[in-house]
Parts: sequence; C-alpha cells; structure tokens
Amino acid sequence: MLSTAQLDELRDAVSTECQVIPRAADEFIVHARVFNGEIQSEAKLLVRPAFVKDVSETVKFARRHALSVSIKAGGYGIAGYAIQGDVILDLSLLDDISYEIPLPTTESNDLPYTQIRNMAEKGTKGKGKLVAGLKRRREDPIVATPTNIEEPPIVAPTPTPSFKKRRDEPVPIPECSATDPFAYLDEPASTTNTNSATADSQTPFSLFSQAQFQLPSNIQSLLNPSSSGSFPSSSSSGSGSSGLGHSSISTSTSRSNSDPHPQPPSEWEDADGNPLPGYLPTTYTAHSAQLPLPTASSFSFLHPPSDFDDPYSYPPFNSALIGSGAARKTRVEPVHDFVYVTFSAGAKQKDVDRYMNSERVPGRIVGERDASNGDGDIGIPYHVPFAAHPVGSSVMLLAGFGFLSRLHGLSIDALVEVEYVLASGDVITVNKFEHPDLWWAIRGCGPAFGIATRYKAMAYPVPQVFAGNLVYTFRPSTAGSLLRHVRDVVKSAPQTLYTNTLFTAGPEGASPIIAIQMCFIGSQAEGQEWLDVISSWDGERCLLNEVQEKSFVGQQGSVERMLRARFGRKWFIRSDLVKALPDDIIAQTVLHFANTPVGCTWLFELAGGAVCSPDKEDTTCLPMEARQAGWTVAAFHQWELEEDDPRCVGSAEEWISGVFKPQSLGGPFPTFLAANETPERIRGTYGSKNWARLVETKKKYDPEGFWKHNCFHDVLVGDAESRPVSNGNTVPAVNGEGEQAVDGVDECGREDKEKENAEPVLDAASVNGASRSINGSIASPDVSLAQTS
Ligand SMILES: Cc1cc2nc3c(=O)[nH]c(=O)nc-3n(C[C@H](O)[C@H](O)[C@H](O)COP(=O)(O)OP(=O)(O)OC[C@H]3O[C@@H](n4cnc5c(N)ncnc54)[C@H](O)[C@@H]3O)c2cc1C
Repeated sequence: MLSTAQLDELRDAVSTECQVIPRAADEFIVHARVFNGEIQSEAKLLVRPAFVKDVSETVKFARRHALSVSIKAGGYGIAGYAIQGDVILDLSLLDDISYEIPLPTTESNDLPYTQIRNMAEKGTKGKGKLVAGLKRRREDPIVATPTNIEEPPIVAPTPTPSFKKRRDEPVPIPECSATDPFAYLDEPASTTNTNSATADSQTPFSLFSQAQFQLPSNIQSLLNPSSSGSFPSSSSSGSGSSGLGHSSISTSTSRSNSDPHPQPPSEWEDADGNPLPGYLPTTYTAHSAQLPLPTASSFSFLHPPSDFDDPYSYPPFNSALIGSGAARKTRVEPVHDFVYVTFSAGAKQKDVDRYMNSERVPGRIVGERDASNGDGDIGIPYHVPFAAHPVGSSVMLLAGFGFLSRLHGLSIDALVEVEYVLASGDVITVNKFEHPDLWWAIRGCGPAFGIATRYKAMAYPVPQVFAGNLVYTFRPSTAGSLLRHVRDVVKSAPQTLYTNTLFTAGPEGASPIIAIQMCFIGSQAEGQEWLDVISSWDGERCLLNEVQEKSFVGQQGSVERMLRARFGRKWFIRSDLVKALPDDIIAQTVLHFANTPVGCTWLFELAGGAVCSPDKEDTTCLPMEARQAGWTVAAFHQWELEEDDPRCVGSAEEWISGVFKPQSLGGPFPTFLAANETPERIRGTYGSKNWARLVETKKKYDPEGFWKHNCFHDVLVGDAESRPVSNGNTVPAVNGEGEQAVDGVDECGREDKEKENAEPVLDAASVNGASRSINGSIASPDVSLAQTS
C-alpha cells in the first residue's frame, strides 16, 4: 500500500487530468484487467496519464520510491506483463490520432513530416511548435475530372488534434457473392470422417485412446497416456499429475481454490466492451468429435456487429467508384503513396483504423463523375499495417504482422518516429537521426528500453479489399490435403495477397471447421483469380464462401470473429516462424489438432513479401532470417476451467515446440513471445548477432534494469535462469542450459539450428521448463495441478 503522502506527492507532480488510482479504489480493477482473464495484478497503484509529462513524472515518482512500473496499452499481451508492476501506467487516455500528407524535402536530413515534439497533445492548444521550414499544410479536397487529373497542390490538413468519433448509419452486410453456397446443406451430412471417436463430455481426454486413425510412432508415444510426457489418461480428468509432463505446472488463477468450476459470464465482451458471440462449451469436446455439419445460419458470427459503436460498422468505401471493372465509369486513385499517421500509445489498432476510415485522404477522380457518385468529397482510406487480429499499440514496437504486411511490411517497418520516455523520466524523440541505436532496437524489442508515448507511422491507401472466408468441415481424413493445397497454390502469390488457414471450432454444436481467410488488397477484378485457385480444392464441399469486395475495416475484425476471441478467458498462445510446411508436419498437425479442445485454434499464415524485401536488411532488430520465414504458425487457446490448463497449454506447446521444431527459425515474431518462453526462443527470435547488440543497447539505455516487466528483460540482463518468480519458485534451467544470456549468445544463434533439429523434442515440459507456471512469473502462490488433484 502506498501512503497518502506518497499519493499526494504524485498527484502534485502530474496534471489534474491524470488519474491516480490506488489499488483500493473501485476503478482499479476496471482498468487493471487484461485480455487474458487468468492474469491478476498485484499492483499497488494504477496511473492513467493524460499527457506525456504525466508519464514522465510517474516514472520519476516510481524511481524515488523504488517501485517498478509496467505499461499497459491494449492489454492484449497474454503474458500479462502490462499489469505486473508495482505501478501500472495505463496509457488508454492518451488517444490522440491525426494524419498528415508527406512534406517535400530538400536536404538529405530533412524529415518529410512534422516531428512529434512539434505537435500539440490533445487538450494542449498549440503547445507544440512547428519546426522552422516544416509547416503544416492544408490540402483542399481533390475533386478531379478527366480534364483535371494533374497533381493538385499538396497541402496537408491540419493534423487533427484528437479523435472524433463518427456515428454513421450501420451498413447492411452485403449478400455473399458466391453462387448459392448453401444449396448442399439440404443434403445429409457426409460420413467420410475416418475418425469414429465420439465426444465424451464427462471424460474429455478419452478421445486420445479412442482415435482410430493410425498414428506415427512418435505421435503415438505422445498421445499414449502411459508414456512419459504424454497427455493425461482418460481417467485423469485433466487434473492429475500425469498430464503432459506438466505435473508441476502451477496455475495462476486466483479463483482456483475457492471455485474449481467457475461459470463464465453469460455474455462476453471484447476489449472495447462490444458483445461477442459466446458458444464455446465449458466442458470440452475434442475437434475430432463427430458432430453435425454447420448450417448456413450458424456462420452469423462472422458478420461484423451492426451496433453504432463498433468501428467495423462504418460505411465501406464507395466501391461503385473504384476498381477497374468495365462497368465502372469512374474510379478514385490515391494521390499520395502514403501519409503519416501520428497516434498516442493509448489508441488501439481499431481506433486508428476507424479514424483513418472516417478521415479519408482526398483522392483523384478518374473518369466521369455522375449523380450516382453524389457531390461530396471523395477520399481514400489509408491504413497503417497492423496485426491481423486487432490489438493495442505495442504491436508497433514488437513487429506486427497482418493483412497489409506482405504488401507494405510489418508494423515496425511502417514506423518513422517514436516519442519515448526513458528510465530517467526524460522524454526523447527516436528516429533514424536521433538515437539511431535505440531506433534500431525499439523496432522489435521496444518494451525493453522505455515507454513509447506517441508513434508516427506510414499508412497506405487501401481503397477496398477482396476478402473473406472460405469454410470447410475439419476432418482428419481431408484436412491435410486442404492445407497442402493452400500451401502449394499460394507459393507464387503476389504481395497483394494475404492468406491464412485456421483450424478452429465450428459453430455451437457443429463440427470443427477449417477457414481459409484471404484478403486481397485490391478489387475483385484483380483478386478473383486467387479466390478461384484457392477454392479449386475439391476434397470437401465448401460450406461457406463469403469472399467479396469490402472496406478494409470491414475485414479487419475477421480474425477476431473467427477466433471468437473473448476478453477475460484464460488464454495461451504459442507461435513460431517456420521455413516451410512439409507434408509430414502437416500430417502430424492434423492428428494433434483432432484431439485438442474446441477452444483451440491453430493458424497457418503465409509470411514473406515486403516483410523480407532486401531494403529491410538490418533496419530493425528483427533479423532477415526471421523475416524470410515462409509461414507464421500459432496456436490460440482459450478456455475457462482450471482443470483444462494442462491440456490447453500442453497441446499448444507440443504442436509448436515439438511438431514444428524441425522447421523453426528460432522463435516467433516478437509480438507472440509470451511469459514462459525459454531464453533460447527469445534469443532465437533475434539471432545471436542482433541479440548481442540488444544486450549492449540495454546496458546503455537502461543500465539499472528499470524496465523489467517484459519478456526480454531477464534474458537481456542475464538473469533468465535464476530470477525468482512471484510464487517463490525459481525458473529452472531449460533443457539443462545453465548459461547466462550475455555469455550464451553464441549458443543460441541460427548456426545451432541443425543440431537442435536433429532430435525433435516432443515433450513439452522438457522443452519449456516443467516448473514454469502457465503464465510464467505471474502465478498465484502454491496452486499446482498436482495439489488440486
Ligand atoms: C487473440 C490475439 C491475436 C493476436 N493476433 C496477432 C496478429 O495477428 N499479429 C500480430 O502481430 N500480433 C498478434 N497478437 C499479438 C499482439 O500483437 C501482442 O500481444 C501485442 O503486444 C498486444 O499489444 P497490446 O498493446 O494490446 O499489449 P499490452 O498487453 O498492453 O502490452 C504488451 C507488452 O508491451 C508493453 N507495452 C505496451 N505498451 C507499451 C509502450 N507504449 N511502451 C513500451 N512498452 C509497452 C507492455 O508492458 C507489455 O510488456 C495477437 C494477440 C492476441 C491475444
């Protein structure tokens, strides 16, 4: 507890708009919650800064009183580092967003944008000054005619000081453009499923022994309850000590002792409080369970919510005016290749997308303008490359791979400047000219060195996308064929095509599904051939084809909707960057997935494109080897009951760290590094050379190790193998490694991959450190699965 005098001291130092919320206050719990409902905060204080100065003063205050600070942006980091400090800096009130048109530059060191330090913060009228020579410009809306399509004078709108919410009428969801994709649904369900296992809700693990397909021997040993490090037996009910080799895994839920079967809330919400469809049962069945086929109406969860407050309900770009279709008389072309968007760190991805969808950048009309076009201004939505699943702004510091990445690069590649608060409380500007060493490091490892308060990033024109889902029934007998088909046909995909394949639960009471999501950045006319080629697989009927032209914001929630990702559930994510998807790994994957609980979704995302273009070499701390990954794979597991912990965690670990290990490039995109990652995987993400450079940067900018609530810190400072966790346990050496991070950098580089790959380790516990808690150092005391059995 902090004393009244301490609280007064902080309140005197910060602005009156800054909220200082002690733990005992009712609002504390509201703001200290994060996406992963398993994480509970032990913080003494939560501060909601209204200005950058408040951030700086809070850091200084924390240092004076030897308090640690953690930073919460969107709260989507499932490790929960955001709320682990003594003081939580919840950045959500810092939500300014504005955009500007690039400025002409004359000198090589001219910056083609208004520097953040010269921009007023929200609510501080004119506090920021313009740099001499860099004036903000105003651009009149461009309404060109065929005789007037030259480049108009370029003048940027005055950067909008704060986000203005637009409440336009909701737009009805257009009908699916495919020809009656539901006609077959009147037919009886197919019986081609080779797996005759039935769901047994009382004994959720019984499916392992009932599976009738032939397993490879190494997988059999994985699934055989009697072998070491395997899944629990059917009688273990998930709570015994034999499961998954995780016998000593402790859970980090604080509700476990008092209520072993907590009931989920009747309605779930996303991070913004929007209701999400809830259907996942509390008692799990495996994906291979024979269930009826979904019906057409059961995919309604894929449609964007229509309530006014949802960002995806904004009207799509007027597609009648764009594209190259012969019937279209006119189109709008972007005048600028990109614009700069400046946003504060409390703005979430959805906020920025919503803003850029409403504040469209004036475009150039080509062709004849007629009455159907209306007489208003016509602008084009520009978007920053963000994650495929909408998250908070820290994605800008940690890579960020999403729909626009193959075309324009990662989120970190779009950044041009960051306002950053150091451990001293000093506020600095970081860009390619100012603190270039930090500039290299914060793009990929940003939380390790300070707090980003404002970002400036490039946003690119996205007039429309041709995007949506192709949905098939998941069957162990055909799933591998479908995944191999996608892998093969997208080999030559252009950078304009984003695609992922998801193995996931079907609608409530229906069989699991495979969703192929495509997002072609362009019109239907340009993207149709890719839909045709992807949908040419004929191993199963396509249950749903709802790929169509839409606005980018209409697509941006599609992964979230398919995952039915619920704020407040228990969450575990394990991801990796992999070279390829060989046939044998696909086969093993299908077998493993058939036996995971229905709350588990496995993702295969085509990587590459602009992410690994030669100009990205050594520009950020993410090495070219990682950028050249063929695929990013990820297990997204959500569940509710503590007794399902070992199964939900273990199946993700075994798939990524076991099945995929031979293809691993060392680690995932940093956005997916979690709390209980091994030092090996954290260093492997960056490679030995870059990791050594990050260690040096840490020594220079955070010599005292003030920023410790992130997954990099203890490995960077060499404490990873001995740092005590909050329940008093010590994180053990991993796979017998005892070396400290700084000395061990040579041990973990990509040179060692062949040796590591020689003997794939399928025992998740030994791969990942058996005595780590599910969420690493945030475990609640003394609640182990062995004890609860
Ligand atoms: C369901 C789901 C789907 C996802 N899908 C994708 C995807 O498609 N692509 C992708 O790239 N990633 C994806 N992610 C990963 C996600 O991008 C990262 O977890 C990201 O860090 C979340 O951002 P946040 O701001 O919401 O996180 P937070 O939990 O708020 O923060 C994460 C970490 O960054 C630190 N941090 C936050 N803000 C700052 C700041 N301003 N300065 C310094 N440090 C800061 C926090 O202290 C914490 O350590 C997904 C995550 C989830 C849960």
